[in-house]
Amino acid sequence: MTAARAWVATLLAALLAAAPAIAAPPQTPAPGPLRVIGLGAGCIAGAERLPDTAPGLQTIRSSHSSFWGAPTSIAALLLLGQRARAAGLPDIYVGDLSGPRGGPLRGGHVSHQRGLDADVWLDVSAPHPVLPVAARDTLDPPSLVRPDGRAVDPQRWRPGIATLLRLATGLPGVDRVLVNPAIKRQLCQTVTGDRAWLRLIRPWYGHSAHMHISFQCPPGQPECRQLPPPPPGDGCDASLQWWFDQMDAPPRPPGKPKPPPKLPAACLAIMAAPPAPTALPTTTSARR
Ligand SMILES: [Zn+2]
Repeated sequence: MTAARAWVATLLAALLAAAPAIAAPPQTPAPGPLRVIGLGAGCIAGAERLPDTAPGLQTIRSSHSSFWGAPTSIAALLLLGQRARAAGLPDIYVGDLSGPRGGPLRGGHVSHQRGLDADVWLDVSAPHPVLPVAARDTLDPPSLVRPDGRAVDPQRWRPGIATLLRLATGLPGVDRVLVNPAIKRQLCQTVTGDRAWLRLIRPWYGHSAHMHISFQCPPGQPECRQLPPPPPGDGCDASLQWWFDQMDAPPRPPGKPKPPPKLPAACLAIMAAPPAPTALPTTTSARR
């Protein structure tokens, strides 16, 4: 692994590691204008909430998820729903975005803290008729990866999954899309024609049933920090093989758990700000 790749991997690991329980920040957005702060540990002011239901899109697992993000992230997800529908796919199921002010998510990841991350499930096996929000709470789409982690489960894999992943990489402002290494390998082995979009599909731990879409910092956000872009090429190379080589390597002794990254100082004011009058519960959030 090159030094640059090792650095990105270390950073990603810190961003995606499970966060310890922390007192939940307020459940209302901090007033705008938009401010997106940090990388990994971070926060957001002026967040918008994704609607629970939109053309081609449904949120799921809402009792333990948060659906707030930068307006650019929300617009891109709504566009993904529309494009998925136009491609003949079932409604996309969207899970966690960020909390209303960002910061650590309940029982979630260290990432998803600044309104620029979204989990979208890769379940295209059957139509998704629009259910009441409460009835979507227990939906748990299955893993697409074999138990040994070396390949996708051919019984569960559908060409539409590749279509959905390709659509995600084509969204405005998308930075990268994380999936299980077996899913990346399946794409490497089967995608023909235009393969340029594979560059943005990056292998990562877990992510066997959903993709994690990371968006770039919106324009005009100097406090928002950004990972370096993925290297050129389709990523179907030694950097992917590395993941499978690890499966054959002898297990390493567990390292010391790292303390969670600290929230940037600028986030303390955002967490403490009184809500804007317009941030009172809407009919959408009241239905949760
Ligand atoms: Zn995620």
